[in-house]
Amino acid sequence: MLWSGLDTLVLKGRVPFTFQHQHPDHAMLEPAAMHKPIDYPKPDNELTFDILTSVSRTGTGHTENQPVHLRLADPTVEVAKNLPVYDGPEQRFCPAGVYEYVDDEANPGKKRFQINSQNCIHCKTCDIKDPAQNINWVVPEGGNGPQYVDT
Ligand code: SF4
Repeated sequence: MLWSGLDTLVLKGRVPFTFQHQHPDHAMLEPAAMHKPIDYPKPDNELTFDILTSVSRTGTGHTENQPVHLRLADPTVEVAKNLPVYDGPEQRFCPAGVYEYVDDEANPGKKRFQINSQNCIHCKTCDIKDPAQNINWVVPEGGNGPQYVDT
């Protein structure tokens, strides 16, 4: 806060350097075993809303049959590594509920990684935060993104 005030009000953003993080964001995720689950309060539908309501309010649309814009370098990594070590972080860092680990009907007792790409609001968090760096977000066909409207 002190630095922000100094930089903004006194120096007017003319500082000839910038602060750097020591590590990339994806390298800072810690194994789930080191943490307790957070019990978030349910949405009150006044100030806070469930994910799908929030996604619909972004006004993001996708044409049917458009090329896949969320690509996995290796489709086995999520279930093999991210689920057992990080408890499937994609389910949490994606703000739009795009990623799910669902029961694998073909392999009872196992999970499979499901991508609900139609929900994507193109924030690119998954590309940055995936600890395995296995998800590649590419610009969707037409370059569409959120279109919030004032209500
Ligand atoms: S870019 Fe990734 S994290 Fe962001 S909404 Fe789309 S799938 Fe979720």
